[in-house]
Amino acid sequence: MQEKIRKTILYFLDNIGKHASHNDIINYLKDKLGELDEREINNELLKLARENKIISHVSVNKEKRYEAEVRRHYHFICRQCGAVRDLFMEAGAVNMIAEYAQQLAKSYAKIDRVNMSFQGICHECRKEIKY
Ligand SMILES: [Zn+2]
Ligand SMILES: [Zn+2]
Repeated sequence: MQEKIRKTILYFLDNIGKHASHNDIINYLKDKLGELDEREINNELLKLARENKIISHVSVNKEKRYEAEVRRHYHFICRQCGAVRDLFMEAGAVNMIAEYAQQLAKSYAKIDRVNMSFQGICHECRKEIKY
């Protein structure tokens, strides 16, 4: 079962819910595999994260989102509908910002991770806003 849970989580994150909440994952797995012990799913999520097969470094409305895209990237988040899109930014641009932040923080910290997100209204939501 554990192997099936693992495969289904990865399939879901790869193909359907690219930035899925914990609930999205639980609901999809229960739908596909029948009644499941949520602890089994949680254990598998932890294992996949430890193996660096999935990450959760973006939140929408304080809700963690999981994804199987583990290459370095940043996010666009729609303020209206919460849609999340990946932004693959050139390392040079990000390093410049990180170095600047390191300058500002140098008396008290060593920065070793950058987690940036950009917000706005996606085109889908913009279409629905009529003034
Ligand atoms: Zn939107
Ligand atoms: Zn992402």
